[in-house]
Amino acid sequence: MNRRNVATICTQIGNRSDEKTGAVSAPIYHSTAYRHEGIGCSTGYDYARTKNPTRALLEEGIAELEGGDGGFACSSGMAAIQLVLTLFEPGDDIVATSDIYGGTYRLFEEGWRKWGLTFQYGDPRNPDMFRRMITEKTKALFIETPTNPLMQEADLSVYKQMAEEHGLYLIVDNTFYTPLIQRPIDEGADIVIHSASKYLAGHNDVIAGLVAAKGEKLCERLAFSLNSAGQILSPNDSWLVMRGIKTLPVRMKQHEENAKEIAAYLESHASVSEVIYPGRGGMLSFRVNDEACVDPFLRNLELITFAESLGGVESLLTYPATQTHADVPQNVREAIGVDNCLLRYSVGIESAADLIADLDYALEKAEQATRESSSS
Ligand SMILES: *Cc1c(COP(=O)(O)O)cnc(C)c1O
Repeated sequence: MNRRNVATICTQIGNRSDEKTGAVSAPIYHSTAYRHEGIGCSTGYDYARTKNPTRALLEEGIAELEGGDGGFACSSGMAAIQLVLTLFEPGDDIVATSDIYGGTYRLFEEGWRKWGLTFQYGDPRNPDMFRRMITEKTKALFIETPTNPLMQEADLSVYKQMAEEHGLYLIVDNTFYTPLIQRPIDEGADIVIHSASKYLAGHNDVIAGLVAAKGEKLCERLAFSLNSAGQILSPNDSWLVMRGIKTLPVRMKQHEENAKEIAAYLESHASVSEVIYPGRGGMLSFRVNDEACVDPFLRNLELITFAESLGGVESLLTYPATQTHADVPQNVREAIGVDNCLLRYSVGIESAADLIADLDYALEKAEQATRESSSS
């Protein structure tokens, strides 16, 4: 069979997995233990931390979607990042993108630095900055593209070359684009990470993380580590993620179409000083002229929800300064451009006209409120 289109792999995930019944939707196996015929006999399943049939379908699915040799389903995106970090040893250094997901920054700085890993940060649009930071201790490049919340894109082919030259792992967090828009392993990455809580599951109803990796040795190490530490995804949640992935292609189309319309609308709005939209996907950020507008704007949204997270069917607006990036020190935050006027919008799949009307109303109300408070 030819290599299937990503959209087809998404929709078919878990189908034809149960020969016995022909079930189209994958069965959920709760069994933790699996019977052995005798000594040395196994169906391939022994104990569910090591391997569970429902989780295995999702793991095979993400491997195929990302073009990897193996997949790993973890209890959260952070657990997936933890899994990848177990590849390293005290003294190892990782060079990462600067406006990285706040939770990842916290895990690096408050978590793994204590255990002897070091981290440096560079602007992904400036590969020379990365090159200058590489020492003999450097073992990996950790790239988020586009970055969060500033939507800066990295040219992965340049980072692939850099990783090859210096013998580094190229690790890419592909949460924002998903394999429908970008397949980092095709472009030279060794490891792809997802917070599946976002676009892959897509309905704001499950926390999950996925890893896909290239190369048998690397996959063996990751499998060993996941089984040892045990931050696996439950069978029910594995099923929910697969259920979500099935509609990812149509959802992503609508997210992108809406995001393009809304970016154009915001561009033309007098209260908005800047719109940051990379032209693909469903995520955009924008700056309002006046910090004082932010709170009244958020309070006057009636359709779009002011909440953390992204990638679900419902529109969510996030204020990075107090939410996703609250643990990044203010001077670091502002130096990288995550200032107090910046808002991040995960554009949902509602009617774009309704979303624009909601933004319009809330921006108008916010302007009124700031005018009144400055004149009083
Ligand atoms: C949300 C997110 C994570 C963390 O994933 P969880 O599922 O919330 O643990 C990691 N990276 C990016 C880019 C994210 O958006």
